[in-house]
Amino acid sequence: MTDTDERPVFRTEDPATQGQGRSYPGHTAAEAAERARSAADAQRSWRRSGFAGRAHCMERAAEVLHARRDEFAALMTAEMGKPVSDGLAEVDKCASACVHFAANAQRYLAREDVAIENTKAFVTFQPLGVVLAVMPWNFPFWQVFRFAAPALMAGNGGVLKHASNVPGCALAIESVFRDAGFPERLFQTVLVRGDAVHALIDDPAIAAVTLTGSVAAGRSVAAAAGAALKKCVLELGGSDAYVVLDDANIASAARVCAAARMVNGGQSCIAGKRFVVVRAVRGAFEDAFVAAMRAYEPGDPRDPKTKLGPMQSVAARDQVHAQVEASVRAGAKLLLGGVVPDRPGAWYPPTVLTDVAPGQPAHDDEVFGPVAAIIEADDEAEAIAIANASEFGLGSAVLTRDLDRGERIAAEELDAGLAFVNDNVRSDPRMPFGGVKHSGFGRECAGYGIREFVNIKSVHVKA
Ligand code: NAP
Repeated sequence: MTDTDERPVFRTEDPATQGQGRSYPGHTAAEAAERARSAADAQRSWRRSGFAGRAHCMERAAEVLHARRDEFAALMTAEMGKPVSDGLAEVDKCASACVHFAANAQRYLAREDVAIENTKAFVTFQPLGVVLAVMPWNFPFWQVFRFAAPALMAGNGGVLKHASNVPGCALAIESVFRDAGFPERLFQTVLVRGDAVHALIDDPAIAAVTLTGSVAAGRSVAAAAGAALKKCVLELGGSDAYVVLDDANIASAARVCAAARMVNGGQSCIAGKRFVVVRAVRGAFEDAFVAAMRAYEPGDPRDPKTKLGPMQSVAARDQVHAQVEASVRAGAKLLLGGVVPDRPGAWYPPTVLTDVAPGQPAHDDEVFGPVAAIIEADDEAEAIAIANASEFGLGSAVLTRDLDRGERIAAEELDAGLAFVNDNVRSDPRMPFGGVKHSGFGRECAGYGIREFVNIKSVHVKA
């Protein structure tokens, strides 16, 4: 069945100018299913390849990334507006994940002997098959590599369904694995829309699914995976709270919080979104924070000095602005920004809201843009309660000069998958990454991530 009538077309648009980009013909449902099946064919021999051979390919992938970093960064800028210096850093981070999993996969998946009477017993970690990855546009390379590097090193294959606005990135990533010498068709991109995902999940060629994206997409994919009884990992939204305590170094806290809010122009699941400040330091923090946020001047994303580019689309910008306006109508005060510039493109200025309270979108919802929400708390206990009173639980941070206090709050009090003291929340291939509550379940990165898509098999051998 090749129904060309159902072939989607993916058109890109430059978020900085709204200029027309490129057009990519997509895959029909039949072609997407065929790609999944040929990935499953390729995986059957890949699963028997040893770690050394897989590591060799993965190291080559890192080399290809380094060699083509300028091209890939330019592609991200063209498709989703990422400043080129951020794009280069993102490509380098992907390469470091490839190197990390090439070096450590065998150790992470080493067989574990278990002492059981009268039998030899051990646990072994075997690949599951082909993993379908449904990915977002905001870190169009990193999100994919942090799934793909461990999944492929574990002996799995991959099918990538990337976000519809980054088709060029999706095809470029496929080419990295091809050029690195992975078996033909082991890792393939399908250019399809979100409504084609359920059929792929149902396809016997797909063993498991991982999604990074919104809560709505997570619910939909989890329901389909549940109906098909297939393993899924979900990395969803976040509304990370940064708790600023009375003993914080305010100048440094303001810099950390502004950098946290402005990562990827505010379009990151682990961007700091709510800044919960105890009353005693609220005024000082607001002054320092507004000054730090003001320094993120919007500029041409193709200029290597630019720290804040456009948002990913005008529609996304308009949604963020609507959240700001609704918050102000409900009692929040604007300390900075909040005005849509009169120019083409998806531009939005650094924006700071204070007096943020329940009932306002800036308090209750994820705001996926350069908009910071300041919430006042009486003291440490109330600040922690506010930080935890969110449907999300991805990242979190506490700012304090007392490192024991910070460590205790980070480790024991904050309801989140990641907690940092005096620093920005970030992912690292060596540490597990993921959330609780509506931020999803399962983990990526480190040994925890690579073990998500394996069969943890108990073997007993009786003499
Ligand atoms: P999104 O709309 O959920 O899209 C993510 C991916 O899911 C895209 O490939 C999209 O395809 C697909 N999709 C959307 N609806 C679907 C459905 N009903 N069934 C199957 N697939 C579906 O999210 P986004 O706007 O691109 O990304 C922003 C969100 O992702 C934010 O909430 C952010 O916090 C979250 N995120 C989380 C993490 C994390 O690690 N926890 C990292 C980055 C982003 P189409 O593009 O074709 O619609």
